[in-house]
Amino acid sequence: METNTPLRILMLEDVEDDVGLIERVLEREGLAFKAQRVDSRETFTEGLRTFRPDVVLSDHALPQFNSLEALRVCREHSASVPFILVTGSVSEEFAVNCLKQGADDYVLKTNLVRLPAAIRGALKQRRDEMHRKMAENTLRRQNEELIKINKELDSFVYSVSHNLRAPLMSVLGLINLAQLESRNGDQTLNRYFEMMLHSIHKLDDTLKEILNYSRNARSALTVSAVDVQKVIEESVNRLQYMEGWKAVQLEIEVKEGTTFYTDGYRLGVIINNLVSNAIKYRDVFKGRCELTVTASASDEALKLAVCDNGIGIASDYLPRIFDMFFRATERSEGAGLGLYIAREMVEKLRGHISVDAREGEGTRFTVVLPRIFDDGKSDV
Ligand code: ADP
Repeated sequence: METNTPLRILMLEDVEDDVGLIERVLEREGLAFKAQRVDSRETFTEGLRTFRPDVVLSDHALPQFNSLEALRVCREHSASVPFILVTGSVSEEFAVNCLKQGADDYVLKTNLVRLPAAIRGALKQRRDEMHRKMAENTLRRQNEELIKINKELDSFVYSVSHNLRAPLMSVLGLINLAQLESRNGDQTLNRYFEMMLHSIHKLDDTLKEILNYSRNARSALTVSAVDVQKVIEESVNRLQYMEGWKAVQLEIEVKEGTTFYTDGYRLGVIINNLVSNAIKYRDVFKGRCELTVTASASDEALKLAVCDNGIGIASDYLPRIFDMFFRATERSEGAGLGLYIAREMVEKLRGHISVDAREGEGTRFTVVLPRIFDDGKSDV
């Protein structure tokens, strides 16, 4: 309004003298404006279309047309043009009703000095509203974009990891063949083969972790009555080819009920990651490496604990062990993803994971999961 472009004012007013009065008040305020007067529904509608006002000033009672109808017509044409009621006298009730219907302000003709401020105020409010809407739209667009990028990134990570595993498995097969060929051959060559196998298994473990991560991010929960004992046994059995498996005394204790409503795949990965860590981080200098997995399921919750007497974790590192890519010991040959994925999955199952560890003594991870109902809603 304060720019040099004159403000376009459409005045719905049938009394010529009142128009003059209004114009004088605005001129006195130094307002640059161009006014067009109309006095019927037809000319008002036409004015909105062709004159394209920046603001509408409307008298209340005109023959066969009133301000409320004018407001409705105005909003149909242009939702954002400020509409100010400028009228002789109206009841407070009527004025409030007009504001409720979407008028921006009302000014009594007996108090026209307020009109310039009312116009400025209404224009400012509309401008602020427009900026807010634009900001909201930008935010929404950016959000949609982010969700799309996130999805694409997850799919990308998934396919790359998936596709990388196939050639890796071929190399693994070829090394096995080469090992067979040179069974009685060069010892150095055999040692190299062993080292190659070790590296390939490490790489494959990382790829499997990435796949688990993106599967967790991408796929919805699949809830069923899970046999807890069976899931623990299957996850643990998958680890029997791990280095150190034979050195560990494993005990599994499942108390109370054995079935629990949750996502069996995710529960399996959580157990697998915790148990494999207990094996990896066993204390080779201890006479007996102990590992206990306990679970107790009730109707409401499953409590799971994985406890070892391994190398433990320094208290300084404890707050960070669930972070992505964080490794708390040089003993780690992994990518620092196992616990991060375990926590992500626990959270997806709306549960909680905690750790209690003492360096040199051992580590205990505790997971508490609420029962999840088939519709994806948990009990807590
Ligand atoms: P990674 O095993 O690939 O390093 P994780 O996310 O599984 O990554 O674990 C993060 C770190 O937490 C490990 O590097 C290790 O230092 C520590 N940690 C995890 N589990 C145990 C455990 N049972 N005993 C001792 N340290 C552990």
